[in-house]
Amino acid sequence: MKEKLSRRQYIEYMENINPAIVMSMRTMTEKAENIAIVTHMHPDGDAIGSSMGLFHYIRYTGKTPTVILNDRYPDSLSFLAGEGKERISVYEDSPEKALDAIRRSDLIFCLDMNSFGRAENLEKALRENRCPKILIDHHLNPDAGEFDLVFSVTEISSTAELLYHILMSCPEICGDASRLPVKAAEALLAGMTTDTNNFSNSVFPSTFRMASELLGAGIDRDAIVASLYNNYRENRFRLMGELLHEVMKITPEGAAYMIISKELAKKYDLREGETEGFVNMALGIKNVRMSLLLKEEDDRFRVSVRSKRGISANRCAALYFNGGGHELAAGGKLLKEKDLDGGGPEKAASYTERVTGKFLNDIQ
Ligand code: 5GP
Ligand code: MN
Repeated sequence: MKEKLSRRQYIEYMENINPAIVMSMRTMTEKAENIAIVTHMHPDGDAIGSSMGLFHYIRYTGKTPTVILNDRYPDSLSFLAGEGKERISVYEDSPEKALDAIRRSDLIFCLDMNSFGRAENLEKALRENRCPKILIDHHLNPDAGEFDLVFSVTEISSTAELLYHILMSCPEICGDASRLPVKAAEALLAGMTTDTNNFSNSVFPSTFRMASELLGAGIDRDAIVASLYNNYRENRFRLMGELLHEVMKITPEGAAYMIISKELAKKYDLREGETEGFVNMALGIKNVRMSLLLKEEDDRFRVSVRSKRGISANRCAALYFNGGGHELAAGGKLLKEKDLDGGGPEKAASYTERVTGKFLNDIQ
């Protein structure tokens, strides 16, 4: 059951934030000189929210970590990264500087990613640095063997929520949310909010507990929601209109898909992060069982997959789109040369129809 943790899952969840493991994390942090925080490529609200949440917490305990990203975060998340920005290193902007920051680290946190490969160009440097590494993540199938300490809970809203519960059991916070640095609390609330799509999916009792405690501690949720959702450029909504009206297709098997070609992206001057949430829209249609959004890039299509209960987006992404993620929300890619015989949007459309047809027919 999705809405309720089974007893076993609940125990696992509690074990994963066992105070002894949290204390090991604290000791490792105290010993380290150069701490790196790394998250997945194309960082979203949870990736940036959890990274900045940990950043502000560690800074509050007396050390300043470096946040290392493969590529830039979207403008819509800059309100989270404003303070501490000088400590964010982006490979896309300055490859050597980012790699060097990883090489120099003597403790690395990987957040919101289940394998080094999810950090794209940072993967090799992450593997080569043999320093202690700590994983804090909520994706399926984590590469746990690569880490010295693992906090992995898959039945939780977000990495931000998992980190919140970890920090709450740290000695200086001691279960009192008002002791969290405000910037950390805001970043964690924002991360949880985006990964739950503003409380519409993957919400558990612990998620509401977190929200309630943070609101009780005086965090301004209205301001966070306004920054996240009422701050887009007009173009996003014009593109959304065209996608829903002209582009979206629904197959007889119940797969809805939209392809944003390079031309369409250019027409709307589309920027990173501006299609956030688009893939969820078609799930509002009664007969749709699964929704896909494909975004064309030079050599590939980036793919987002969402599904309704009983259909595994994770499995579909793993089987047909070189990816994975969560049971009902996953992502991946189609390489033009390897997967589509060098084709573009039309090939991607016929491929998507064929594989989703097979996938949904096989489930029935
Ligand atoms: P989104 O569609 O929002 O980009 O991603 C949905 C979920 O799938 C996120 O939790 C994300 O981390 C995960 N995801 C996205 N792309 C990939 C991918 O290429 N590989 C894997 N393993 N997970 C992905
Ligand atoms: Mn996440």
